[in-house]
Amino acid sequence: MKKAPFIVFDGMDGSGKGTQVKLLIDRALHAHRQFVDTREPGGSPLGEKIRDLFSSPEGAIASARTQFFMMWAARSDWFERVVLPNLEKGVPVISDRCDSSTMAYQVYAKEAPELEDEFWRIRSMIFGKHPPTLYLFIDLPAKEAKRRVDADTSRSKSLFDKKPLEWYERVRKGFQSLREDLPNHVIMIDGDRSPEAIHEEVYKIVSEHCGWK
Ligand code: ADP
Repeated sequence: MKKAPFIVFDGMDGSGKGTQVKLLIDRALHAHRQFVDTREPGGSPLGEKIRDLFSSPEGAIASARTQFFMMWAARSDWFERVVLPNLEKGVPVISDRCDSSTMAYQVYAKEAPELEDEFWRIRSMIFGKHPPTLYLFIDLPAKEAKRRVDADTSRSKSLFDKKPLEWYERVRKGFQSLREDLPNHVIMIDGDRSPEAIHEEVYKIVSEHCGWK
């Protein structure tokens, strides 16, 4: 039997990921497609609690290693309660962020390469036979992502949110490294275009992957 689609959207802050997830979900709902729309970290009650801890001042200054395990703990609960039960019923799961963000933020941006082997080991333990089937990374120059974040007045910018350009560059490198590690499962989407143009490409890819034809 064909595996149910498990699709992850990811990208740097400011990449337009949130905008694209919303456009996709609205259109798929309008077309009466069956799927589960979720997010990570969070997406399950315990996962959301860990997300809140992560966003607290203590969570924000925690080491890469501590954050890494917090993320995997949240992901484990979410996977058991939300993702797997749906995939087993054949229902596609679409998630805003997933383990790709752990690679980009904890391993690359926070410069903890010693966690990379652990990443693959824990990933296969938690996802087992059901890792994400498709990652869509919204990619654009780090400078443009930072410009958008800095210009976005709706975003609460605490001290922890203010990141230098090099941070964005390291995050981008993390996503690029995952594309090299999972070449058959990652598609890079050029995010330096109008939201509508990006959405058309995204919708086409997702429709094909989910068999929505
Ligand atoms: P993310 O979820 O990746 O952080 P958002 O979707 O919140 O990104 O978008 C970040 C900012 O950039 C917002 O102000 C949004 O309106 C703007 N934005 C989103 N997509 C585009 C785009 N394709 N071109 C220009 N600006 C965009």
